[in-house]
Amino acid sequence: TADSAKSFFRRNAFVLFTIVAVLLGIILAFSLRPYQLTYRQIKYFSFPGELLMRMLQMLVLPLIVSSLITGMASLDGRASGKMGMRAVVYYMVTTIIAVFIGILMVIIIHPGKGSKDKLHREGRIEQVQTTDAFMDLVRNMFPPNLVEACFKQYKTQYSTRVFTRTVLHSTNVTAGVTTTQIPVPENFTSILENVTHALGTISEVLTFEEVIPIPGSANGVNALGLVVFSMCFGLVIGSMKQKGRALREFFNCLNEAIMRLVAIIIWYAPVGIMFLIAGKILEMDDLAVMGGQLGMYTLTVIVGLLIHALCILPLLYFIVTHRNPWVFIAGLLQALITALGTSSSSATLPITFRCLEENNGVDRRITRFVLPVGATINMDGTALYEALAAIFIAQVNNYELDFGQIITISITATAASIGAAGIPQAGLVTMVIVLTSVGLPTEDITLIIAVDWFLDRLRTTTNVLGDSLGAGIVEHLSRRELDAQDCELGNSVIEEK
Ligand code: ASP
Repeated sequence: TADSAKSFFRRNAFVLFTIVAVLLGIILAFSLRPYQLTYRQIKYFSFPGELLMRMLQMLVLPLIVSSLITGMASLDGRASGKMGMRAVVYYMVTTIIAVFIGILMVIIIHPGKGSKDKLHREGRIEQVQTTDAFMDLVRNMFPPNLVEACFKQYKTQYSTRVFTRTVLHSTNVTAGVTTTQIPVPENFTSILENVTHALGTISEVLTFEEVIPIPGSANGVNALGLVVFSMCFGLVIGSMKQKGRALREFFNCLNEAIMRLVAIIIWYAPVGIMFLIAGKILEMDDLAVMGGQLGMYTLTVIVGLLIHALCILPLLYFIVTHRNPWVFIAGLLQALITALGTSSSSATLPITFRCLEENNGVDRRITRFVLPVGATINMDGTALYEALAAIFIAQVNNYELDFGQIITISITATAASIGAAGIPQAGLVTMVIVLTSVGLPTEDITLIIAVDWFLDRLRTTTNVLGDSLGAGIVEHLSRRELDAQDCELGNSVIEEK
């Protein structure tokens, strides 16, 4: 009918706009590159992109909270328990497969060539204890202050500190080899180092953040803590029958309203994505840094991510649901492109919601419940990347890993992916945990910083794809519970009348 044709066009028009925007962004950037714009000019140029990022981030917090609370409140305890189990099993299985692929690829392709001088290490850099990192992960699940959890993450404090120091420390050393993204003037480094020592503990992180943008450390929402709280809260108001009604309606309405805002912002998304991508291309170093082992490393990560995203995940979806995974993925196109443009799975979340609900018709009880959790803890791309990168660094250092250490890397990479926030380059910061768990030099993170902005985009896209296919799979497996609930709801409506 005319109506459905119209809505079909609308849906696809968005995807079309977005694809055109990406292409335009690339063309624009490459035609501007010869003019060698200054850092400031590039920042002005990509301002519309920054705005998109800010708009999406603005919605994430109320979206996560309201959708989880309404999601949990609308399911009875037993049903949500079952669905939750299915989701967790899916997350675990896919993350373990991802780590495995990462390890396999880096061992087969072997991108890192041992270079003797790298073995020499300075002992000055503070190490994160793996146990501390694990405890921080659990601590984050129980934020002592909910308001603070909206803008601060506990665990990154410590790793960020080590990371900052590490990067600052080795910037001078590696400057000749690879260009780091962080523009630190040479003498500035030692000044900041001294400031670090003088200031002591946590305040130093804040000081640095104000001075230099550290990857992954900006806007560290403690999403994990908010997720845990919202789930419990939703469950409780769901069980409160009549008494809980006002709250249920409130959060339901909030959720509706946020999704309407998403529907408005989505019109602006193609413009924003165009400038985000163009700005990044203008900013990037000359492709020459990609030569040699860094190039091989990049290739290894790309191959690993492609295998996971385009073979394993779709296959899994097909095996469980017997449906065509490509049709499902086509419906997700806009979310995937947004992930590529923003390199943040949490900023992409509003678009992911829309794609799954509007294009793929996934039940809202599932998306509301599964997506916020998935975007927070399920990061296949990040897990794959962390294991792969750690072993690459071992290879560069001529460091033979035994089987036990490889297992340690897989466990810590999984934990690091759970702990990483869905923000740009968060995975690079949580790498510190993986490296220290097997005694690898954390300062070698600087070796891979130059290409991380690019690989980050690819792993973010994989993360979003994993979450979305997971929602499809959990919905399929939970059909019985959903139908039973529909029946119940139908009955209660009749009773009320
Ligand atoms: N940027 C990624 C994400 O948002 C996290 C990472 O750095 O791996 O999913």
